[in-house]
Amino acid sequence: MLLSIHIEHTKFKNHIIFRMKILVLNCGSSSIKYKLFEMENREVIAQGGIEKIGLKDSFLKFTLPSGEKKIIEKEIPEHTAGVQLVLDTLTSKEYGVLGSLDELDAVGHRVLHGGQAFSESVLIDSKVEKAIEDNIELGPLHNPANLKGINAIKAILPKVPQVAVFDTAFHQTMPEKAFLYALPYEYYEKYAVRRYGFHGTSHRYVSKRVCDFLGIKQEGTKIITAHIGNGGSLAAVKDGKCVDTTMGMTPAEGLVMGTRAGEIDPGMLPYVFSKAGLDAESFNTLVNKKSGLLGISGVSSDMRDLISAIESGNKRAKLALDMFEYRAIKLIGSFVAALNGADILVFTGGIGENSDPVRKDICDGLSYLGIKIDEKINKTVHGKEQIISTPDSKIQVIVIPTDEELTIASDTEEIVSK
Ligand code: ADP
Repeated sequence: MLLSIHIEHTKFKNHIIFRMKILVLNCGSSSIKYKLFEMENREVIAQGGIEKIGLKDSFLKFTLPSGEKKIIEKEIPEHTAGVQLVLDTLTSKEYGVLGSLDELDAVGHRVLHGGQAFSESVLIDSKVEKAIEDNIELGPLHNPANLKGINAIKAILPKVPQVAVFDTAFHQTMPEKAFLYALPYEYYEKYAVRRYGFHGTSHRYVSKRVCDFLGIKQEGTKIITAHIGNGGSLAAVKDGKCVDTTMGMTPAEGLVMGTRAGEIDPGMLPYVFSKAGLDAESFNTLVNKKSGLLGISGVSSDMRDLISAIESGNKRAKLALDMFEYRAIKLIGSFVAALNGADILVFTGGIGENSDPVRKDICDGLSYLGIKIDEKINKTVHGKEQIISTPDSKIQVIVIPTDEELTIASDTEEIVSK
């Protein structure tokens, strides 16, 4: 297919350098986050986000080229108006970084749920849109918002190619034994009830990046990636392919998270429903928004707040942290078992990248595997790529900051260049 791609050419020692500008959009139900990449240097040249779409006090917050942050308060009734505001800001005389929208070569979208239809990123056409729509049942909060973003770009910039990058795609290589729940098999056949897994773009990026960082091939490696942020999940990655992950049919399964419970006994449902007077919807809110660190501590879902509360002697905050770390230790151990041994453990996500005490506690709980971290080095690592294990550790432990937006931009570049 011939795509109309605007490409700036620069002659450099007889090579032509292609300079694509790619906009990455992450559309939520009431928000739009964006980053504009100049792909030659893989540099972010503009970024920001809209919040509270559909509410009276909606606003756009963005970073000026000088690094200064600016807020524009404006009523943004729906996503097309939001995308239009982002594009106007990118081309604005005052704050813009683009001369005109003709400079925009492609748009990459973060799409939550690809269901079983997508195992990789794809160029968006009507069939892809239909498949994203078909998966709304599986991603009821996110897929409709993702589609709104896609439709907004289609309406405003109909000639600009768009690419969908799915949170679930990387996990599609899991074998049946890992992705099935032991419910009657018809539930999988009839209703597609299975583990899908999320944070796939992050797990894919860090599991590849760690190999580049170490100068090794992905083939022959057994890696556990721990994406621990407000949401959290582990992936077991063998030869560069995901073989298991802790999030399930929805992002509520697995680790203890900021506001999500992670794994619980499904048999408790009838009891909890009747005791607390819950129905399916309120239970969903309970396990996704009121549980985890927030639910146990009663203080906050945010790790930094929790650590301050612990320092002031709050016992429930300490219990929440203990539970958070204990679950991570247990599930990492189970993934070492799933892989029949592991070579590398990667920490990423807001907590994994920044919280050296949490990394230390988790690694201490895995000392039976021969994991040893260099405490002095660990303490200095905040948001940078660094080996934190000692040379004699049986499993290398490495911090790799995730970059989901860059991965989306790179996939988009690759797909539209074809
Ligand atoms: P999200 O899942 O929303 O993308 P992030 O990956 O940004 O979230 O992670 C947010 C979490 O990271 C919060 O709990 C925050 O407190 C935690 N975090 C960020 N920086 C630090 C830090 N320096 N020490 C401890 N926790 C941190």
